[in-house]
Amino acid sequence: MTELPARRLLLVHAHPDDESINNGATMARYAAEGTHVTLVTCTLGERGEVIPPELAHLTGAALGRYRQGELTAAMRALGVRDHRLLGGPGRYADSGMMGLPDNDDPACFWQADVEEAARRLLDVIREVRPQVLVTYDDDGGYGHPDHIQAHRVAMRAAELADEAGCGIAKIYWNRVPRSVAERSFARLQQDLPGLPFTKTATIDDVPGVVDDDRITTEIDGTAHSAAKADAMRAHATQITVSEPYFVLSNELAQPIFTTEYYELVRGERGSGVRESDLFAGLGLGIGGAGGGEAS
Ligand SMILES: [Zn+2]
Repeated sequence: MTELPARRLLLVHAHPDDESINNGATMARYAAEGTHVTLVTCTLGERGEVIPPELAHLTGAALGRYRQGELTAAMRALGVRDHRLLGGPGRYADSGMMGLPDNDDPACFWQADVEEAARRLLDVIREVRPQVLVTYDDDGGYGHPDHIQAHRVAMRAAELADEAGCGIAKIYWNRVPRSVAERSFARLQQDLPGLPFTKTATIDDVPGVVDDDRITTEIDGTAHSAAKADAMRAHATQITVSEPYFVLSNELAQPIFTTEYYELVRGERGSGVRESDLFAGLGLGIGGAGGGEAS
């Protein structure tokens, strides 16, 4: 394969749409800067609830196929060309929300062998050799089985990558600082009368909210807010967008964050109160092929 750019970013997500909601601005920014951005999505989200009535007939495998198309459109909006499904399309089925009988389906991701799934991810890591990995915390951000499993698989794959000699320098978990969430929801309350939504979510509905002092890194994606919103819109079965807000199938309005926040859990933290670059401290120039000239 042709030589990849010096900077390579890998994101591991549970379902199509998670990447755009959590990291859309980050992905668009790094893709625009010439970083090689690789998205690995673990399931096709076949158990997601469909919002548009005209698409409500889509369930199971048909919904999975449709959502694969939505994911492709979202990646086009973000400028990301390398997106893959762990083990290929449909290898791991959506596990549904925690506590549902779906969790017991032997084909679902929650029932998958972590070691085997991590080895599939290791194949991608060997090929792409990312210096940075982004995924969820050990609660999957909000307790969804597929998000928890994506965390386990990503973290195990990182261990395997160390053993294989292609270790990942920095690992981040998706976060939202509590103060930012509080401010955004206060603004949402004020804006609600002018929105096509009637109810708001609460901070507890937002994955990955933590106290501000745990935030190590903030990626300003303001210049890419339109791309993020477009990517979220591409997931029309799951998301309705009215910038700068959106709803999922629960119809509860939430803010779209165009600055995205992270907690560095592995690797050396770059300088400053908060890093403003996921690659900070790695000495890798932006763009260009090959092995990392200092910037
Ligand atoms: Zn998800």
